[in-house]
Amino acid sequence: MLATGAMVMFAAQIAFARDQAPFDRMVLVGHLYKVASLWLVYHALFREGVHQPYRRVAESRRDAAQSHAHYQQLFDSSPDGLLVVDAGGVIRHANAQASAMFGWPLPELLGQAVEALLPEAVRGRHVGLRQGFAAAPHRRDMAEGQWLRARRRDGSTFPIEVALVPQRAPHIDTTLCIVRDVSRRRALEESLLQQAAHDALTGLANRRHFTERMGQMLAHARRQQQQLAVMFIDLDHFKKTNDTLGHEMGDRLLCEIAARLRGALRESDLLARMGGDEFAVVLADMAHSGDANIVARKLLDLLLKPVCIDGHEMLVGASIGITLFPHDGQAAEELLRHADLAMYRAKASGRNAWCFYQPEMNERMRERVDLERDLHHALERGELSLHYQPRVRLADGALTGFEALLRWRHPTRGPIGPDVFIPIAEETGLIVPIGEWVLRQACCQARAWAAAGLPRLQVAVNVSARQLSDAAFPRRVRQALADTGWPAELLELEITETALMQDTAQSAGLLRELKSLGARTAVDDFGTGYSSLAYLKAFPLHRLKVDRSFVAGVQDEGDDRVIASTIIVLAQSLGLQVTAEGVETAEQAACLLQHGCDEAQGYHFGRPVPAEEFEAMLRGRGA
Ligand code: C2E
Ligand code: MG
Ligand code: MG
Repeated sequence: MLATGAMVMFAAQIAFARDQAPFDRMVLVGHLYKVASLWLVYHALFREGVHQPYRRVAESRRDAAQSHAHYQQLFDSSPDGLLVVDAGGVIRHANAQASAMFGWPLPELLGQAVEALLPEAVRGRHVGLRQGFAAAPHRRDMAEGQWLRARRRDGSTFPIEVALVPQRAPHIDTTLCIVRDVSRRRALEESLLQQAAHDALTGLANRRHFTERMGQMLAHARRQQQQLAVMFIDLDHFKKTNDTLGHEMGDRLLCEIAARLRGALRESDLLARMGGDEFAVVLADMAHSGDANIVARKLLDLLLKPVCIDGHEMLVGASIGITLFPHDGQAAEELLRHADLAMYRAKASGRNAWCFYQPEMNERMRERVDLERDLHHALERGELSLHYQPRVRLADGALTGFEALLRWRHPTRGPIGPDVFIPIAEETGLIVPIGEWVLRQACCQARAWAAAGLPRLQVAVNVSARQLSDAAFPRRVRQALADTGWPAELLELEITETALMQDTAQSAGLLRELKSLGARTAVDDFGTGYSSLAYLKAFPLHRLKVDRSFVAGVQDEGDDRVIASTIIVLAQSLGLQVTAEGVETAEQAACLLQHGCDEAQGYHFGRPVPAEEFEAMLRGRGA
């Protein structure tokens, strides 16, 4: 008897040691010892005790009955379900908790095969369970404390954890099963898992879950030799909405966008919010890579539809980058990075567009990232400078002003054109401090030349859209003029047509403020944007600069001449001065003069040159 008891205690310990996770260990060990002790008592009294020859039978029966009741009471007091199962897998004993848990009245539960407590679908998988009661190696599977699905009498299922305590000794070949209903804990775990894997705002998968699932989808596609498309979606004007209408509105907008995207995709596609206003999609099993075009078109159309929240109608739009598996990459990280690059390309091409990844993008992007990093330090390291280009009156060739043009000499790459670095400066916002430096530097230089007895010419400075959207811009201009002592009427701010038209109401207000300062304004690169001259009438402007693309062919009989001459006539009718840009030959200059153009700028009259050279030119002219 003692040997059996010791074995049971030992088995209890083993079972506990194997229980890796879910049971609370201290509680479990308590239960196991309690149950094991009960088992010892039970067997001592019912099995071995009756063999003792000196006990009287009646006394023995009475004791046995009492002890049995006592035992049953203790057995029933266990918070866990307890089942005693014999070597054949038949339930021999059970407590009230087990009966309640499985929905079987106790008398009916006894004598059932233990499989009756498992759903049919998993019985096959758990033959080990039945055998487990007889065959030691299988017990380990069960004693690990992993959960498994159990079945109630009414057919409903629920998760349980089981610890098995084998009792094999002479007269005993049963297993004690300690069963715990873990429905509540599993539900909690699942909700925690759901929270950890999903974005709290939109309920879509989050970035972590997305990359994990994407990895699985890639593995599957690889096995099945299927194609996948990965899309990176970035909303176009979300930041503006968020800033102007507030975060709550921004959140609601994101939820609406998420719902639209979800509704447009198949169940098998994976959609996630990657953070901020970025979403990503994996299109599962694409028959043709061209299908990605169709989906991108569909998604863009959906996102371009106005969103109406609390009476505010908002237009969002998006840029989409697409990359294909296995063509453009193998690993999830790589594909996402490529889709991201393609998305930037789509944004740069004018937004509301999609773009497929191409290997050159990698190289270009790396270069861009390097330039962006270096541009941050360019100003403080003195790598920026200004070149000056003269502007002349066509009628007599007199110098009327000059334009300040920014230059960047990179320490290792040498000179970098403004066409390359100005867009980077604009996108990063660096154009604001850099633009202010240009303004001050140009005014300072003009002032210094005037102080040195050289003519007081009009200084033209380029202003980017980003600077214009800063409400403090007119104040900055006034301050720069005050600090440098340059008169406002000799400062001309050049704003490209495209920048002016971005927000016409704002532009009009800003131009009025600049006018009230006394500064002059010019539309730069006219003809390259979408404005009409009639529109410009509404703006208080002083000058219009005809883009050099129309000047190039002005001497020939053709469209360029017609367009250039029409612009000149109409601009003058609006009271604007007209300057032709990019005049490279005497013929062009003569033709422009003939068509009534006031002024010109271009290599024919002088290239943009550093300050010293420009100064020498000024002195040489004897001005
Ligand atoms: P933009 O304001 O239209 O400047 C005129 C551009 O035409 C300059 O190019 C100038 O070098 C070039 N150019 C002048 N004459 C001729 C010619 O006869 N033939 C040809 N082919 N080109 C001529 P650059 O200096 O490369 O500047 C390009 C653009 O970069 C400028 O166009 C302007 O939009 C922008 N930019 C330059 N400096 C600044 C700045 O300080 N701030 C801002 N925001 N933009 C600037
Ligand atoms: Mg300009
Ligand atoms: Mg221009």
